[in-house]
Amino acid sequence: MFNSLSDRLTATFKNLRGKGRLSEADVDATIREIRRALLDADVALPVVRAFTGRIRERALSEEVSSALNPGQQVVKVVNEELVDILGGQTRRLNYAKRPPTVIMLAGLQGAGKTTLAGKLAHWLKSEGHRPMLVAADLQRPNAVNQLEIVGERAGAFVYAPEPGNGIGDPVQVATDSLEVAKSKLHDVVIVDTAGRLGIDKELMQQAADIRTAVSPDEVLFVIDAMIGQDAVKTAEAFLEGVDFTGVVLSKLDGDSRGGAALSVAEVTGKPIMFASTGESMKEFEQFHPDRMADRILD
Ligand code: GDP
Repeated sequence: MFNSLSDRLTATFKNLRGKGRLSEADVDATIREIRRALLDADVALPVVRAFTGRIRERALSEEVSSALNPGQQVVKVVNEELVDILGGQTRRLNYAKRPPTVIMLAGLQGAGKTTLAGKLAHWLKSEGHRPMLVAADLQRPNAVNQLEIVGERAGAFVYAPEPGNGIGDPVQVATDSLEVAKSKLHDVVIVDTAGRLGIDKELMQQAADIRTAVSPDEVLFVIDAMIGQDAVKTAEAFLEGVDFTGVVLSKLDGDSRGGAALSVAEVTGKPIMFASTGESMKEFEQFHPDRMADRILD
């Protein structure tokens, strides 16, 4: 992902090479190219506008450092602004002062929540924690089973309603899980919640009820990076519905054009915290805005 955006931006900057001074026309031509490249990568229009506006202003007004030629100066400004729209500094997980830390996952069905629950547990274990997974997605018949498989792969305990007790109440399951975590000495609880194929009032209410019941330290909104322009609308709906604290981009390994990654943090004001890049437990990493910007401008 980002390959095409990356190639386009690199080609744009090549045109600036060797120029002694940049005229306003040079800057405008560059901005036009950046704008097209971002729109083709599915970045949301308001984000593109704000981004290119800031670059134009800085490119025309900032003193050129003596160590850089004007072309390099533009690349530097674009890099800094990219880091900024990707969320600025790396945002690390917020742990509760008194365990267990509660991390709730929210997002559409198929976004990658259950897979992410396993990857997060696997990563937390490598960081020295004792995570526990909670099956509060009781909507899909197979969801509990899927979480159990993922838990086994991650080597993490899964708390789920007893089979045969009917569908169960996800809010109750989530609430009960906190006592279970305390008694079994799990210091991090990851609550998987139900998703739907589209935004749905009932789903949002259930997620909001679980949020109220377990007072999570983090609510992570998991979003499929491949959904392109729909990412912003979905993120806004979840921000309003459950007020998440951070974003996880899943399926970054796919042929997504990167628009979701470049739009969601800026539009919601919430940081991207993790990136999930495949089906195996290890394909998961903390999200570093500066490294991602370097990758795009590489
Ligand atoms: P949920 O409905 O939000 O719980 O989504 P799932 O975790 O069940 O994931 C939906 C599908 O996407 C499954 O087939 C997963 O194997 C797949 N998936 C999840 N995360 C990733 C990822 O990072 N990369 C790829 N390629 N596939 C993923």
